[in-house]
Amino acid sequence: MSVLNRFLRYVQIDTQSDPHSETFPSTAKQRDLSNLLVVELQEMGIADAHLDEHGYVYATIAGNSNKPNVPVICFCSHVDTSPDVTGANVKPIVHQHWDGTDIVLPDDPTQILRKNELHDLENQIGNDIVTASGTTLLGADNKAGVAEIMTAAWYLMQHPEIKHGDIKILFTPDEEVGRGTEQVNLAKLGADYGYTVDGEAVGTLEDETFSADGARITITGVSTHPGYAFGKLENALKIAGDILASLPKDSLSPETTQDKEGFIHPVHFEGIQEQAIIEFIIRDFTEEGLKEKEDMLQGIVNEVLQHYPGSSAQLVVKEQYRNMKKILDQHPQVIENAIKAMKRSGLETTARSIRGGTDGSRLSFMGLPCPNIFAGEHAFHSRLEWVSVQDMEKAVEVIVNLCKVWEEEA
Ligand SMILES: [Zn+2]
Repeated sequence: MSVLNRFLRYVQIDTQSDPHSETFPSTAKQRDLSNLLVVELQEMGIADAHLDEHGYVYATIAGNSNKPNVPVICFCSHVDTSPDVTGANVKPIVHQHWDGTDIVLPDDPTQILRKNELHDLENQIGNDIVTASGTTLLGADNKAGVAEIMTAAWYLMQHPEIKHGDIKILFTPDEEVGRGTEQVNLAKLGADYGYTVDGEAVGTLEDETFSADGARITITGVSTHPGYAFGKLENALKIAGDILASLPKDSLSPETTQDKEGFIHPVHFEGIQEQAIIEFIIRDFTEEGLKEKEDMLQGIVNEVLQHYPGSSAQLVVKEQYRNMKKILDQHPQVIENAIKAMKRSGLETTARSIRGGTDGSRLSFMGLPCPNIFAGEHAFHSRLEWVSVQDMEKAVEVIVNLCKVWEEEA
C-alpha cells in the first residue's frame, strides 16, 4: 500500500490530544489510530506489534544481518494532533500535479494556500499536494511520519534481501501536549539510537532544541485595609506589574528573537494585593544562556523590590528540558548516518535547530539519542497545513536507507 493511501486513511481518524485532561493518553480516541496501526503491522508479519496499556505502539522488524553488532535503530512518530485546531472530520484533498496557482480550500474559501506566503510551497510545482478542506487541520503533523514509517516497515518486510539490524517502531500519544514520553518504556523498546520522523521540508535534520527552564516569582506585599493604608500598603499586584514592565521591550522576548536567540517569557499571572505569582518560561540554546537570563530576572526583581522595603519576592527556577545536541555530540554516528542516508536519496541535508522541545530531546536525555528528520509536513497546527506526496515518498526512502547505512557501517 502506498504512503499516500495510508496517510489519507490515518488523517480521517480524529486523534486530537487535550492539554486539560488528566488521563493518559489525554484522549481515548488516540487509541483508534494506534489500534489500527497494530493490526496493520501484524498483517505485514510483524508479530510482536502491540499497543501497551498507556497507548504506545511498539513493534520490531527483526534483523536479518549476518553482522553481530548492528545497532538497534528506532523510528518514532506521534499519533496525536494539535489541540490548536480541530482534527475531527478531516477531509483530505489531493491536488494532483499542482501548477503553482492558489489553492482555495472548498469548505472555507478564505483559507488559501499561496506559494509566496507558505515556506517551501514554491518548490512543489508539479507535485501532488495534500491539504484539508478548510475547516480542520490536516494532521500531517505527525501522521505523515506515521504513514512513512508504516510504509518503510512494509517495504522492508517485502524485501528481505535488504540487510538491516533490528528495527524498532514506536508510535507515541500526546506529543502535542508535551507528554509524549511520559509513560514510554525505553528498556522494553531496547533501541540504541532513534529518529523522530516529525520535521518539515525534505532534507531537514534537526539535532538541536532549546534548553528550557520554568521560573516562578512569588511576591509577598504588605496588605492593609485600603482606608487605613497611608504609608503602609505595598500592593503585590503593583510590584508584579513593575517587574513585568521592567523586562526588556526590544529584546529577549519570543516576539523579538529568532534563530539562536533565547528569551524570558511570562506565561501566567495571578494574585491579590497581598501575594502575586508570575510564571515564566526561559529559553536558550545553552545552559550559560539560561543562567544569564535567570540572573537578569533576579536583577530586575532586586531592583524593583528596592522600592518596596516591606515586601519580598522569591524566584524559583525549575529545569524543564535540555538541548539534545549535548547528547547527540557524544554519538556523532547518529547524525553522520542520517546525512549519508539522505545523500543516498539525492538530498542535501539542512541542519536546523528547533525553537522548542521535541519528544526526541526528552528521549535523548532518557538514554535514546534521537534527532528529528523530515516528514514533509508544513504549516502545521493550522487549517493551511499541507504535505506533498513526493516528499512523503522521499521520507520513506530515507528511512529505508537509514536501515541500510547502519547495517553497512556496523
Ligand atoms: Zn509533531
